[in-house]
Amino acid sequence: MLDVLRRIVQEVNAAASLESALKIIVSRVQRAMKTHVCSVYLFDANTQHYVLMATEGLNPKLVGQVRLAPSEGIVGKVAARAEPINLEDAASHPSYYFVSGSGEENYHSFLGVPIIHQRNVLGVLVVQQKHRRRFDEGEEALLVTMSAQLAGVIAHAEVTGGISVSETGPVRQDAKFDGVSGAPGVALGNAVVVAPPADLDGVPDQQIEDIEHELERFSSALEQVRHDIRVVGRSLAKRLKGEEQALFDVYLRMLDDNALAGEVMAKIRQGQWAQGALRQVVQSHVQKFGLMDDPYLRERATDIKDLGRRVLARLQEDTPDICHIFPPNTILVAEEITPAMLGEVPTDRLVGLVSVLGSGNSHAAILARSMGIPTVMGVVDLPATRIHGKQLILDGFTGRVFANPSPELTLHYAEILREETRLTKGLESLRDKPARTLDGYDMPLWVNTGLVTDIALALDRGAQGVGLYRTEVPFMIKECFPSEQEQVESYRRHLEPFAPQSVTMRTLDIGGDKALPYFPIEEQNPSLGWRGVRVTLDHPEIFLVQVRAMLLASEGLDNLRIMLPMISTVTEIDEAMALIEQAFAELNDEGHQVIQPEVGVMIEVPAAVYQVRDIARRVDFVSVGSNDLTQYLLAVDRNNPRVAGLYNHFHPAVLQALQFVVTEAHREDVQVGICGEMAGDPGGALLLMAMGYDVLSMSSNNLPRVKSAVRGVNLTEVREWLTELLALDCPQHVEARLSDHLRAAGLSRLLRPSPAEMER
Ligand code: PEP
Ligand code: MG
Repeated sequence: MLDVLRRIVQEVNAAASLESALKIIVSRVQRAMKTHVCSVYLFDANTQHYVLMATEGLNPKLVGQVRLAPSEGIVGKVAARAEPINLEDAASHPSYYFVSGSGEENYHSFLGVPIIHQRNVLGVLVVQQKHRRRFDEGEEALLVTMSAQLAGVIAHAEVTGGISVSETGPVRQDAKFDGVSGAPGVALGNAVVVAPPADLDGVPDQQIEDIEHELERFSSALEQVRHDIRVVGRSLAKRLKGEEQALFDVYLRMLDDNALAGEVMAKIRQGQWAQGALRQVVQSHVQKFGLMDDPYLRERATDIKDLGRRVLARLQEDTPDICHIFPPNTILVAEEITPAMLGEVPTDRLVGLVSVLGSGNSHAAILARSMGIPTVMGVVDLPATRIHGKQLILDGFTGRVFANPSPELTLHYAEILREETRLTKGLESLRDKPARTLDGYDMPLWVNTGLVTDIALALDRGAQGVGLYRTEVPFMIKECFPSEQEQVESYRRHLEPFAPQSVTMRTLDIGGDKALPYFPIEEQNPSLGWRGVRVTLDHPEIFLVQVRAMLLASEGLDNLRIMLPMISTVTEIDEAMALIEQAFAELNDEGHQVIQPEVGVMIEVPAAVYQVRDIARRVDFVSVGSNDLTQYLLAVDRNNPRVAGLYNHFHPAVLQALQFVVTEAHREDVQVGICGEMAGDPGGALLLMAMGYDVLSMSSNNLPRVKSAVRGVNLTEVREWLTELLALDCPQHVEARLSDHLRAAGLSRLLRPSPAEMER
């Protein structure tokens, strides 16, 4: 039966429209369960009725005609109760609703199960039989299983149907797809689906005679692709700095004779035609990378596939290339957005990016953040192949995409977009103004950086220091560990522009969802595994080189602070301190004029919260990584769209922990900062200020808003809000009350609608 089920799901998945998907469902389920009737009713949100959408056994003319209010008929009851109803004789049920001309009078036994997707009752799946009998437990279990499996497929098909306009049924508007935020911002535009230029997997093997000719063909295709990539790289040059540009060099190097290209040529020399040789080589690499648990390395598979397709397209020169026309307000959609795809769109036309696969740490997301392009990643349910040209709304704040938006939703988001633009313009004048509350309290606002591009933006926004430089970012866009000298240069580029203001450099924080292509970490449960300081303490050679480079880079500037990520026990601090001491002593012995930097620890795991005083005694400062702390306190994967609704830094447990950390650490007289996303949220930032945080470090894009919030309130008042909010027991109540306070303080302009408000 499992096989039957799997086949049905596959067939339904492949259906071109909602209508045909439903037809397949009723006919296959009827056959599989050997019933006389199988029908499916779906909820029409516009009319608030359950509509007969497809039937096998009842009068087909009634499809689209039978409409039942919730609780009307047995079907309505199944939906209202959200549980199956199994009847020997439907006609004798008090809710029985006879539809004349349906032929239902011939069928006595009835089994209806709700179709539920993400807590919503989408409709009801019904089977009926002529004779009076209750469906047995096995049959009921089977229909429930079918329905559960088909719910996702129907939800998917329903949206697709909504997008491609179904004649017979309801058209679903504002179809919402959840992903994770890749880069903040809102975009309204049209989907341009970037399909791979060539289907590599479909290439057959073929033997050839003229090997020299084939090698030439391949070399010329390769040269053209190299040229294409250079053009793409150049088109992005204005918006990217040296290190990010290096991504394109990595791309080009993959095509080197001693890399992919060399392997393809070797196969051609064995008599395989160029296309076949290319497919074999690419597939074998993709398979190797694709099997890896490590998300970064899986992304490498995407890069290789992308390159393979490009070369194939060039080899198939007589087959016309798919020519994409990019209209104004293009929202680029792809199964997996690659940096090269991003560069193909004229920048003045690109307003957003949507990637079905990938996470907030994908290359494309890193670049998008730096370029300020709103992006949603990991929209796994999006029917990417079917939405080309359709209108989309992208919400990069909450990580959502809406297809087929209603005029109401479009207006709503257009207003948010206008507000954002107005606000950004309006806030420009704040650059040189202090982050001072109305009652005279100065709140230090620092920034988080990673790419070189971030530095200019940070300075432009009037940052007072760097609270978190994510050093793994430059490591991620390299092909091997950077040498000590390379690191010195890179760190100097960060330290110099900010001097004498502090720059807090975090030691390499890899593992979890951040991996290096040249240092694979394969684990069952990476978030709880070998990450952050756990990796670098196991590899002192990597740690020492990095610390030495940081210290050397700071020579004469003396504005370096070193920060340790993912500390869960004090011995890790002691060990890391000993290594930092060692690096310091070495450099002094070597005659360098370096001074002892301040050293701090990130508070990112619950263990560190409870031991914060023990930690504080050992260091100069602590800084809360609220992104990870929220993840670990709530046991919610920060990159999983399915549980994104549970991830909330306003959760009372998180607030309590944050208050505890600052109070306890202050008892040891150390500076307490925070560098997670919460610090960049105006409401969150105010609460943290009231809790007593000494430094708020955030992405540069958020700094003006936070400054504006700080300048619009009295610290004494915000302390009162905090007392009230700390007594609440649920995140939504905290958010709602915080919004009330912000509105009352005249700061509504800084409010972004919360995900709950977006549900409308
Ligand atoms: C955090 O966890 O809050 C943090 C700032 O670090 P990252 O987001 O890089 O894990
Ligand atoms: Mg972290």
